[in-house]
Amino acid sequence: MGGSFRIGNIAGIDIYINFSWFIVVVFLTISLAIGWFPSLVPGYATGAYLFLGMLASLLLFASVLLHELAHSLVARSRGLPVKSIILFIFGGVSNIEQEPERPGIEFQMAFVGPLVSLLIGGLSLLILYFIGGRSPLGAVFTYLAASNLLLGIFNLIPGFPLDGGRVLRSIIWKITGNFRRATRIATIVGEVIAYLLIVCGVLLFFAGNTFSGIWIGFTGWFLFSAAQSSNAQVAFDTAFRGVVVSQVMETHVETVPANISLQRLVDGYFLPHALRSAFVMQGERFAGVITLGEVRQVAREEWGQTLVGFVMTPVEQMKVAQPQQPIGDALKLMIAQRANELPVVQNGQLVGVLTRDGIVHYIEIRRSLGMHNAA
Ligand SMILES: [Zn+2]
Repeated sequence: MGGSFRIGNIAGIDIYINFSWFIVVVFLTISLAIGWFPSLVPGYATGAYLFLGMLASLLLFASVLLHELAHSLVARSRGLPVKSIILFIFGGVSNIEQEPERPGIEFQMAFVGPLVSLLIGGLSLLILYFIGGRSPLGAVFTYLAASNLLLGIFNLIPGFPLDGGRVLRSIIWKITGNFRRATRIATIVGEVIAYLLIVCGVLLFFAGNTFSGIWIGFTGWFLFSAAQSSNAQVAFDTAFRGVVVSQVMETHVETVPANISLQRLVDGYFLPHALRSAFVMQGERFAGVITLGEVRQVAREEWGQTLVGFVMTPVEQMKVAQPQQPIGDALKLMIAQRANELPVVQNGQLVGVLTRDGIVHYIEIRRSLGMHNAA
């Protein structure tokens, strides 16, 4: 998982922290230690404020974790597999592998996150009622109450892909019975709210309210880009729905035998056809792939005596596509592997190759023929 690392596993769900988290924790700790705590509970040493800042940051982190766990555990109890949670300081992403099948499930899944944040906020207020806000610990709970209530309310903004947008989507879905239309409407609402926030931010900024202006404008921009990317996801799913690998793959595949030397590979295949890689056959069986990079790792004077089969990446260590696999799955695999092509294999036989160019070409042809999937 790029830019994130695993910190543990809770109830079978892998928990990751994004690297940006460390930077934000440091900034948050420092800004709480020089701003929030000295103004609430004056007269302590700098070290004490830093400790309180760190404590408050970590408790906020735990709150965000509980918010995400609530989404994930409800999803799983409704039969949706959950692989992992990635945490950023102000939020997280639950990696739920499937979209819910019924609007009621989506409603529960989406609503429980903000509900947990509001409950933590409420609980902090209750604790504050008993211990009072004038002690260092009281200041920590004041911060927890404020941040969790804000987190709960912000996430209830009805713009997809925020939790509130998912709640809205589930309601429209329930009314119209159409998942895709509901997604589109919730996304548009998200974009409209994002625009309003940006305009609001700019107006506040020029009215002299610099800090609030920047903060609200930034929030709008964040919401807008989130709405855009979820829109792209829906467009992606729509373009590829019902299409399988065998419809898009090229069936004519150049292969090389495993028992030729690297010298013959370069002179007979790579140079004349300007190839950077080739699929390797061991007799009739698909054996692996050999790339120019792998050839280069062998000293040139040994090319004559070294066989392709010894240098190639064997098929057991490669990702391959199956002919009946949905094209979207194969493309996600290619993106994850940073590969430009995937061999298509059925029962150990190489039946074709799926290339990025081929996929782009396929979409262009469908578009030019006006073939759209009905939503
Ligand atoms: Zn949430």
